[in-house]
Amino acid sequence: MNEDADQLARAARQLIDTDDLLGGGFLPAEHHPLPEVQTSAPAAGAEAPAEMTPAQKAAMLKALDEEEVRTCTLCGLHRTRTHTVFGEGDPSAALVFVGEGPGADEDATGRPFVGRAGELLTKMIEAMGLTRQDVFICNMVKCRPPGNRTPAPDEIAACWSYLIRQLQIIRPKVLVTLGNPSTQGLLNTRVGITRLRGQWQKLPELAPGLGGIDVMPTFHPSYVLRQYTPDVRGKVWSDLQAVMKHLGLAPAARKGATGR
Ligand code: SF4
Repeated sequence: MNEDADQLARAARQLIDTDDLLGGGFLPAEHHPLPEVQTSAPAAGAEAPAEMTPAQKAAMLKALDEEEVRTCTLCGLHRTRTHTVFGEGDPSAALVFVGEGPGADEDATGRPFVGRAGELLTKMIEAMGLTRQDVFICNMVKCRPPGNRTPAPDEIAACWSYLIRQLQIIRPKVLVTLGNPSTQGLLNTRVGITRLRGQWQKLPELAPGLGGIDVMPTFHPSYVLRQYTPDVRGKVWSDLQAVMKHLGLAPAARKGATGR
């Protein structure tokens, strides 16, 4: 037990060691309106996603990305993007992280969470004893809102079916929603992240097969970097520990956040 406590303390310290604050705002005070839920059929062949092999899931995600998302012009964000940012990770991941939208680094590379907030998310994942390849990471919208502003409701609604279809294909055990937009959108609630974080939620039946997935809301890494207090960091780590317990991840058997 003492080793467990030491391991957790070391991992928590890894998070605390990241002290470079991110510029720009996040976690807007105003309510973010809910996107209109679309329950249209998933991509072809997704009728029985629970029975799909990892290879089939990978192929379906690839097709969704390459044949639809990369050429998407459903909302105005396509005009200013450099790359779409579909998301990446294990197509059969038990754990999916959902953020808000790509930032400048993500727009430049086409990969999710690769800037400062991404570095912190990576540390958070590693503190759980996992790698980015073990989980799936994506956002509510697949194109960068100019100036890293919060995506507008019509932009979230336009992109909504892509996220839903991603989740239908992956069929994770646990979703971690990062910040207000993904928490409020996926849980179909107006309650804010400050009240919801740390409390297990159930995903509504947004589309066939998605109802009842366990959801852990927590703060967005950008918010953690801006509000870099022991209290905020401790809350996020507590949320991640709850996810680890839920997924049966034993801290004592895992390496520290950065393997140091
Ligand atoms: S944000 Fe989503 S809906 Fe808008 S253009 Fe990009 S992929 Fe299409």
